[in-house]
Amino acid sequence: MSDVFEPIGIDGVSRFAGAPDAPHPRLAIVGALHGNEPCGLRAIERLQYELRTGQLRLRAGTLYLVHGNPPASEQQERHTRGGLDLNRLFDYRFVNDIPSAHWVYEHNRALELRPILDSVDALLDLHSTTAPSPAFAIASPLPGSRALADGLGLAYVTQGWESPGLLGDRVVIAPVTERGRPGVSVECGQHTQPESVEVAYACALRCLQYLGMIDADSERARAGAPASTRLWLRAAIKRPSPTFRFVRPLASMQVLEAGDVIGCDDDLVLCAQRRCYVIMPNDAVPVGEDMLYIAQLRQPTDEVPATKPATASVLDGAGQQVVERAPIVGARVAADRRREP
Ligand SMILES: [Zn+2]
Repeated sequence: MSDVFEPIGIDGVSRFAGAPDAPHPRLAIVGALHGNEPCGLRAIERLQYELRTGQLRLRAGTLYLVHGNPPASEQQERHTRGGLDLNRLFDYRFVNDIPSAHWVYEHNRALELRPILDSVDALLDLHSTTAPSPAFAIASPLPGSRALADGLGLAYVTQGWESPGLLGDRVVIAPVTERGRPGVSVECGQHTQPESVEVAYACALRCLQYLGMIDADSERARAGAPASTRLWLRAAIKRPSPTFRFVRPLASMQVLEAGDVIGCDDDLVLCAQRRCYVIMPNDAVPVGEDMLYIAQLRQPTDEVPATKPATASVLDGAGQQVVERAPIVGARVAADRRREP
């Protein structure tokens, strides 16, 4: 049994093979698709070191360690200057929609990573969040993804990201999921917290263990308890105006009760209509981009949410669409600006 390291000619990608007669499963662990999220990169660097020095051994399978966006990491930015969010390009629509002369680094990088995404049996994708947050998994809609997410031992697993208006079809787990293979992203905690690196590394080890690629009794990879809370995504709330701000700091997994005000600008107050959970709040995003996701505890009647819209229009007093909402989030015109009927 030996671990073989092979460079494969793609920047930031290394491949490790376990036993030669057991090339499967093929797993890709991706870190730093976003350059300002170093935890996943630190985790794969640690794995790389441990595999090269023999401190960690693959008993089976093929492992790809993928540094998602190396130049963005160098710039410590979400994407390269003048570039685009790499983790919104994996539907590959740009190939037909945008002339290649106008492509930025991230378009080319998404294509460069495609052969890996098209060939792996499973994918683990490591991220971090702007606001402090408990770690949570984002599972694609396949049962295998939910099982893999459970195997990571995190307190929260979120599902339903594939509903209309959400991100599911554009992110890096999408091409893997489309082939019926499990894909899970993990938000490991806040960008700069050292604990986020530990979470990312622990998730990577547990993923390897779950897939039988390292010994199940590996002390460091001991599986955690299954997720205690499963959440179902309901809506993406886009930032409606340059002056819109949350009325108080929000954190992922924070619970909002019916009537709680989320944020406001001069014309609009956004509030929860039902009890819900906050996911990845960030009111500093550009206008029109997702500033918040809303989730609820999964209910048995929610088995087919992918077929019903997660979002609907909310009109402000001037009849303009200002936010997208689900039935659990409402908006009203601010009292001091309410127009006469
Ligand atoms: Zn990210």
